[in-house]
Amino acid sequence: MYDLVVVGAGPYGLSVASHAAAAGLDLRVLGRPMATWREHMPRGMLLASRPEATAIADPEGSRTLTAYCAGQGIGTEDAPLPLDVFAEYGTWFAERSLPPVDEQTVTKVAPHREGFRIETAEGERLLARAVVLAVGVPLFAHRPPALAGLPAELASHSTHHRDLSPFRGREVTVLGAGQSALETAALLAEEGARVQLVARTSHLAWDAPPQPERGRPAALRRPVSALGTGWPNWVWSRLPGAVRHLPAATRLRIADTAPRPSGAWWLRDRFEEGVPVLLGHRVTAADRTTPGVRRLGGGPGERVRLWLAGVNGTASTLETEHVLAATGFAPRLSRLTLLDSTLREGLRRIGGSDAPWLDARFGSSCPGLFFAGLLTVPTFGPAMRFVHGTHFTAPRLVEGVRQHLAELSPATGAAGPVPAGSTVPDSTAAHPAHTLHTQRTPSERAASEALAEGLGRLPAPVSRPAGSPDRAAAHRPGGSTE
Ligand SMILES: Cc1cc2nc3c(=O)[nH]c(=O)nc-3n(C[C@H](O)[C@H](O)[C@H](O)COP(=O)(O)OP(=O)(O)OC[C@H]3O[C@@H](n4cnc5c(N)ncnc54)[C@H](O)[C@@H]3O)c2cc1C
Repeated sequence: MYDLVVVGAGPYGLSVASHAAAAGLDLRVLGRPMATWREHMPRGMLLASRPEATAIADPEGSRTLTAYCAGQGIGTEDAPLPLDVFAEYGTWFAERSLPPVDEQTVTKVAPHREGFRIETAEGERLLARAVVLAVGVPLFAHRPPALAGLPAELASHSTHHRDLSPFRGREVTVLGAGQSALETAALLAEEGARVQLVARTSHLAWDAPPQPERGRPAALRRPVSALGTGWPNWVWSRLPGAVRHLPAATRLRIADTAPRPSGAWWLRDRFEEGVPVLLGHRVTAADRTTPGVRRLGGGPGERVRLWLAGVNGTASTLETEHVLAATGFAPRLSRLTLLDSTLREGLRRIGGSDAPWLDARFGSSCPGLFFAGLLTVPTFGPAMRFVHGTHFTAPRLVEGVRQHLAELSPATGAAGPVPAGSTVPDSTAAHPAHTLHTQRTPSERAASEALAEGLGRLPAPVSRPAGSPDRAAAHRPGGSTE
């Protein structure tokens, strides 16, 4: 029996694993290292965050992206880094700080008498006293519900495309206004696609270029942080622990709307040169057509017809060969089907949402079950959408695991992995009730008050019917902004 199994080998899984290894925990890490960055992001994309704000947290603070680049002779000053460099950095990080990552896909995490039973697609079965689910972002890709009936040839999500060249010469409508939408559209135009962008927002926002020589007044007016410039970004990047003490409805609103979608300053010229835009429109419905003929079945020459509602109440339609939703990611526990259904459905949620309730150490209401990454955004705020959030997450989460192990009976013993094919007892015995710690310390209260500045700049709350999709809960690079 392992102390800990980490599911996922992206920035969050690797960071947690490096801290757990340094803490002396007996652990396994399952997943394909940096698979999202290698397989679910278009080739040619560039890192939106600054290199110094994109280090995966390790216990010594020495395995940074800038250290990796320096070792490889890659300059980080003059131009944004390709995402592929970041993917290579993640692999380099993994090779230096962890037990070897097992490139296996976890298919099941179920309760067990002494913790959890984990099964992989490759046939291995393991037992662990604690599990961290760091399964990343593609699983939570959000597509506007209006596109639900369309086949993959006509409608897709940005995470489906590594290679944009099949769109050469084709007509593509990109939905969204965040970095992912804007950069995907620019790359499509450069690839020779006839691309246009449709977004609900009435104007596109672009980040200002960095100004290294800023004086003190400017720095006070718009402080620089790992998430960008301005007080809200500063608050989200520096005070994730305080976010957790805000009322649930406020946190859900923050998760839906912050940070505001925008494009990187270096992308603007490329985008404006090649991409016409239709702003202030949202897609209300979509169906399939052939030019001039309405068809029911699929077939060559098929097109998509989008039904649009304008901000001023106008209705219109737009036909296109393909609609690509760069509309971000929604943290929805119900998508996590690898988690035993009884366990998943029994997990406490935040305020009627589909996001897990978490304690200050990233523990869920099931003792020993921890979350990292996107699913923690409604608890700790927008920093958890970015690599930067690994610095807040990993040390606290590993501390939570250690506390959990200390609370368990010493009689549990350690048995190591269970060989493939052998029988693992399928006990679903309940865990002891979880104690909720909701008392605030004075410093947490003070930090919570400091959030007022950031909150004051958030858009007004939008009402969301109970049970409706967590539409806009997207990170900024992916931007849930259709
Ligand atoms: C186009 C794009 C650009 C981005 N640019 C930036 C940026 O510039 N800066 C920034 O900070 N953030 C950026 N992000 C956000 C970025 O995705 C996250 O910050 C980061 O990847 C989150 O790390 P993660 O470990 O939670 O998830 P992921 O990187 O998604 O990794 C999840 C890992 O879990 C594994 N996994 C999933 N399911 C299983 C399973 N069942 N069994 C085993 N393993 C599993 C996957 O294979 C993968 O290795 C970008 C996102 C997108 C989509």
